[in-house]
Amino acid sequence: MIDPFGRHIRYLRVSVTDRCDFRCVYCMAEDMEFLPKREVLSLEELDRLCSTFVRQGVKKLRLTGGEPLVRRGIMQLFRGLSRHLESGALEELTVTTNGSQLARYAAELASLGVRRVNVSIDTMDERKFAEITRRGSLPVVLQGLEAAKRAGLQVKINAVALKGVNDGEFDRLIGWCGVEGFDLTLIEVMPMGDIGGENRLDQYLPLSMVRADLAQRWTLEDIDYQTGGPARYVRVKETGGRLGFITPLTHNFCESCNRVRVTCTGMLYMCLGQEDSADLRAPLRASPGDDAPLEAAIREAIARKPKGHDFIIDRRHSGPAVPRHMSVTGG
Ligand code: SAM
Repeated sequence: MIDPFGRHIRYLRVSVTDRCDFRCVYCMAEDMEFLPKREVLSLEELDRLCSTFVRQGVKKLRLTGGEPLVRRGIMQLFRGLSRHLESGALEELTVTTNGSQLARYAAELASLGVRRVNVSIDTMDERKFAEITRRGSLPVVLQGLEAAKRAGLQVKINAVALKGVNDGEFDRLIGWCGVEGFDLTLIEVMPMGDIGGENRLDQYLPLSMVRADLAQRWTLEDIDYQTGGPARYVRVKETGGRLGFITPLTHNFCESCNRVRVTCTGMLYMCLGQEDSADLRAPLRASPGDDAPLEAAIREAIARKPKGHDFIIDRRHSGPAVPRHMSVTGG
């Protein structure tokens, strides 16, 4: 699949549920309303959809959410999709998770060919973790990380940079990840979805400033490391660990975008920060035995992939740039 700007689309992120056991303050409103079940693709439909993308050239598949590991029967989907790793059609199957269920699933994920997991942890302070996630428990997530290590999974920690919340903690996160052997990626908060009373401008912390500040205490060496995702990496000389920066606001990375995303209702978004989408659920449900209409709908949508997003957070733009929550499109 090649888009109008010559970019090869090889990376698909699929949100397998909009539900989550956490309510992170920058991601969801406290009283989120979740979708009725019939709207959400079944596990069989998700398998068929992902497999169609793999046939069309997707090499890297990430399951996300909501919280993917709270979806009932989720391992059935991993088991099914692992056949594409065995055949060599798919190079990588990964998952982004809040880690709350990792203790239960890490070993099976590894046995199915998952090599890397992204785990979101914004703070190492137990009390603050409970505040940010509104209902998460850091010790439970740390147990999940232990299980991931024992299973041999490579771990990358994702932390969203939040002004006045975790901006004093990046040194601690860098040190901890160095000791544990985890990569760390810092992410700029994106203006996605209504999050109740919270104001984006209050949360937004430009990573250009964070990086300049970190460089006063750590030796950050540019490296040519790519995971297929949008992070730009440096090596932290003192820990030997990798540190990534995802900077959709201070430096957008659209020119090398190789990704598309599907929501749990089967809407294909060609850009995280734009509204244009294609309904894949309709062709999927209309022709159970024939993937041709689905393939045609995917091709037609890729031909409309926009050049990039235009997220802005400033005094005039502190509301959502797109109405969808990150939990709908998947991170
Ligand atoms: N529940 C899983 C998790 O916690 O990783 C997967 C879904 S979550 C939506 C994926 C990632 O998106 C998490 O790292 C989360 O911190 C991040 N995220 C959510 N809302 C965001 C926003 N508005 N801006 C930047 N990152 C966001």
